Amino acid sequence: MTAFHTPNFTPSTLLIEWQKQFGRHGLPWMVKDAYCRWISEIMLQQTQVSVVKDYYARFMEAFPTIDVLARAPEEEVMRLWAGLGYYTRARNLHACAKVVVERFGGKLPQTVEQLESLPGIGRSTAGAIASFAYDVPAPILDGNVKRVFSRLVRYEGAVGLAATEKYLWQLAYAWVPEKETGTYNQALMDLGATVCTRTRPQCERCPLKQQCAACAVGDAHRFPIRRPKKPVPTRSVVMMLWCSSEGVWLEPRTGKGVWRGLMSLPEVQEPVGAPFVTFSHVFSHYEMKATVCRQWVEATSRPTPNGRWVNARDLPSVALPAPIEKLLKLHADVLFASFEKGLTNA
Ligand code: SF4
Repeated sequence: MTAFHTPNFTPSTLLIEWQKQFGRHGLPWMVKDAYCRWISEIMLQQTQVSVVKDYYARFMEAFPTIDVLARAPEEEVMRLWAGLGYYTRARNLHACAKVVVERFGGKLPQTVEQLESLPGIGRSTAGAIASFAYDVPAPILDGNVKRVFSRLVRYEGAVGLAATEKYLWQLAYAWVPEKETGTYNQALMDLGATVCTRTRPQCERCPLKQQCAACAVGDAHRFPIRRPKKPVPTRSVVMMLWCSSEGVWLEPRTGKGVWRGLMSLPEVQEPVGAPFVTFSHVFSHYEMKATVCRQWVEATSRPTPNGRWVNARDLPSVALPAPIEKLLKLHADVLFASFEKGLTNA
């Protein structure tokens, strides 16, 4: 276990001043509102600001309050999340809204402990919501902040190890200021996203360059130390692309899979029809290698018990996993127009 030594500097004053001058301002969720902050924080996990902006706008238009979100059907929530990936975030978001309405009268609680007790909200997200919306002096420690801290002190422990997490949280608590915590936390996020970036830290632009141990040695790129990657297991699946004059057959994914709540092509054990296309998609814990077989059938048939025909016009309103959406869009000409052209089983 690594002993904790408080570094002999604190970065908060420099960071707060830097954020005011050089940080990011005016993003749509930068308001003192816990609901807006919560939605944006969850969307921003694993996803870039430029992508989140559009999703955030559509989501807030559909679900302007936590009560509306709690009452919404899951399919609608998933539809507005479709394409952002990491769908557990959307399911947790929906579950969380229901708990907040039931237990907290529709208002996100103010303490880190209460926020952390909610589905999908970890300690760092709780700290972000509490500090941004309620001025609670709570620290954050997301992936960007871990990188900045690891470089500042040249921390040799690998990220993901319990001892490293413990040490970095100790730093986070030691450094978090009592006042202007929201600005400080925003500064850390901005610094990690725009200056102390993963591949090319721009130390000459950094407000902490005088204090930074990695900058002094010139080896910032070494940090954070990564654990050797384990090989990702692969899973082979066969999907059916049934086509008719009414469109393509999609069925809702149920059970415990990563695409639960989304509409997708049915997975089968015994494919029929001809192989049409293959694709692979990497999830956080495995890689899926899919073979998609295609068969033309009558529109009156029902290839699987649950499902429906979806035509090209209605496709944008269906919650689809990103690779399935990409596949259908890419081959839309063939899939949706062949019957009109008089082609069958082409
Ligand atoms: Fe990151 Fe460089 Fe700033 Fe250190 S000086 S925190 S390595 S950008």
